[in-house]
Amino acid sequence: MSTLPTHGDIRSFEVEDNVLCIGGRKLTEVIESVGRTPVYLYDTSLITRRVEELRAALPPRLKLHYAIKANPLPKVVKHVAHLVDGLDVASGGELRVAIDTATPRHQISFAGPGKSDEELRASVESGIVINVESPNELLRVNRISRTLSMTARVAIRINPDFELKGSGMRMSGGPKPFGIDAEFVPDLLRQGLGESVRFEGLHIFSGSQNLNAAAICEAQQKSLELAVRLISGTTEKPRFINIGGGLGIPYFPGDKRLSLYPIGKNLESLIETAERAIPGVELVLELGRYVVGEAGIYVCTVVDKKVSRGQTFVITDGGLHHHLAASGNFGQILRKNYPLVVGNRLHGSGLESMNVVGPLCTPLDLLGHACQLPAETGVGDLIVVMQSGAYGATASPVNFLSHPPPLEVTL
Ligand SMILES: *Cc1c(COP(=O)(O)O)cnc(C)c1O
Repeated sequence: MSTLPTHGDIRSFEVEDNVLCIGGRKLTEVIESVGRTPVYLYDTSLITRRVEELRAALPPRLKLHYAIKANPLPKVVKHVAHLVDGLDVASGGELRVAIDTATPRHQISFAGPGKSDEELRASVESGIVINVESPNELLRVNRISRTLSMTARVAIRINPDFELKGSGMRMSGGPKPFGIDAEFVPDLLRQGLGESVRFEGLHIFSGSQNLNAAAICEAQQKSLELAVRLISGTTEKPRFINIGGGLGIPYFPGDKRLSLYPIGKNLESLIETAERAIPGVELVLELGRYVVGEAGIYVCTVVDKKVSRGQTFVITDGGLHHHLAASGNFGQILRKNYPLVVGNRLHGSGLESMNVVGPLCTPLDLLGHACQLPAETGVGDLIVVMQSGAYGATASPVNFLSHPPPLEVTL
């Protein structure tokens, strides 16, 4: 009987002798050469394939950026940097990773509230674009670039007056710490942004993890219309408009893969609208999990198996401290299982309901509730959490309970 999930990207992975393959090799061999679990494995060929699919579906003039916070592992970022047009960072640490790639500096942008003076200085010195999140931050950028006798590249991050419908994480609409409220932007642009900055663009990010193509199209259209409206009546001319991203991936049973076709069609017409309103302007889409999320798996080893009052518990060496999102504690409202398989035993003679838990002394440390796994599953087997290439290791409390951190390996 098969345990393969019917959603997610499991079909992109080969199976050989009942063992999951990644990077063209059997998982058991990969783990042997890596030396230990828990480990995150990233298949860079799947990242390449995903970006190729995006390029094929989206208009050629659209600029594609990668939001590093989804997976900031330098090897992953270097691989992605060759495939996309730009990188978006959200901290000084991510900025250092981005600068270490061949990406042109003006195609790197830094968004995020509460940037430190040190981060702003590093941004001005390196010539990347600072997405300004508040009027006060704009004053600080001016002061810092004046001190450096340099001109800062600045984009205005806008907090729009709408939300992305059906989004996993809302990042806009209403009172928000992100961006400058849309209603203040025309005055700001008319007053001028200051002597020591150059206006480069507008940035609108309305939400994340959306599987509804119609909602994404609507948000992108509203974002562009808002940007054009805010610019009209000012003498400023943006080099680019970043209309966000939000493209989701199927994590849970019942999730349907997003169809890129309507999004591509919509963007074609938006590019024409943008060109008419602001000739030569670049339209930018920034994606994180869509690029890397399905290319990564988290692998841990079964350490113990026990039955408690009728329920079977499979206890692994990995858990919430490495993969907070799979435990359901990274923004989910109702906990659902990530797709989970026994990597060295995809098919078994029969299936049994098992809870897969980690080694932490908290009931939150749950990787899979009532999973149907091969009855033979036991100590030494490899538990694989699929769809784990984004918001994994770096979005988890790795120091909680002082276990070793997970390894991260690109294949
Ligand atoms: C987090 C973030 C992203 C990436 O979101 P995904 O859901 O991973 O695509 C893009 N842009 C901004 C501004 C973000 O904060």
